[in-house]
Amino acid sequence: MLKIGCHLSISKGFYQMGKDAVSIDANTVQFFTRNPRGGAAKPIDEEDIKKFKQLAKENGIESFLAHAPYTLNAAAEKPEIREFAKETMEDDLKRLEYLPGALYNFHPGSHVGQGAEKGIEYIVEMLNEILKPNQTTTVLLETMAGKGSEIGRSFEELKTIIDKVKLQEKLGVCLDTCHIFDGGYDIVNNLDHVIEEFDQIIGLDKLYAIHLNDSLNLCGSHKDRHAKIGEGNIGLEALVKVINHPKLKHLPFFLETPNELEGYGKEIKLLRENYKE
Ligand code: FE
Ligand code: FE
Ligand code: ZN
Repeated sequence: MLKIGCHLSISKGFYQMGKDAVSIDANTVQFFTRNPRGGAAKPIDEEDIKKFKQLAKENGIESFLAHAPYTLNAAAEKPEIREFAKETMEDDLKRLEYLPGALYNFHPGSHVGQGAEKGIEYIVEMLNEILKPNQTTTVLLETMAGKGSEIGRSFEELKTIIDKVKLQEKLGVCLDTCHIFDGGYDIVNNLDHVIEEFDQIIGLDKLYAIHLNDSLNLCGSHKDRHAKIGEGNIGLEALVKVINHPKLKHLPFFLETPNELEGYGKEIKLLRENYKE
């Protein structure tokens, strides 16, 4: 069965998010751990989480992907910005233990002028401080579009980070179809080749999740603007090939398309109809 869901809000709690997921036939969920622009997280409501876990179990929702605030920058030049990223992620990981076995995705960061090498060094430093042998969460580096000085556009950069991290078994990659397409990987014309390249450089065993998005821009544009499924330059046909690819089809997929609940429901239905068991 296709594992697919979308980004949902937890502003009304985990249980309500679970009900939203069930209402659109989603069996994966993604949510922000806190306000995407950063700031304090709500205190954990254990009863709410418990009800959510029960609901998820009853409805076959198995993959939980928590997304870090996208304003965090672990690669920043200023120590206080890096410290903030570290403290926030550390706190997120502690809280995620209420949801054992979850995935936690973050944007590697932007080096803002000091060079990718330095930025990568900072990201590695942070990961080596926050990853713990007993955590149940797998932390994922998201593939980026290469906007500005973003780190993580190329598979090589992600591999460099992974190689330098000590607890590699707690670290993986989340591949965003819009981002890699904008980043220059032509998944419309060369999907097999791109997957092969990912496998050779990073290794498909490191791939834990896919953000399934269409793109408003062209391959190599380095823009990062998501489109609804079938309404962008990747298109439905190529995205259907992604969900059916023998090396990807078992992975959990998460839509981050510009939709409300109803629109997500339609996309999930469309993709389920085009999935070959
Ligand atoms: Fe993201
Ligand atoms: Fe994404
Ligand atoms: Zn994006």
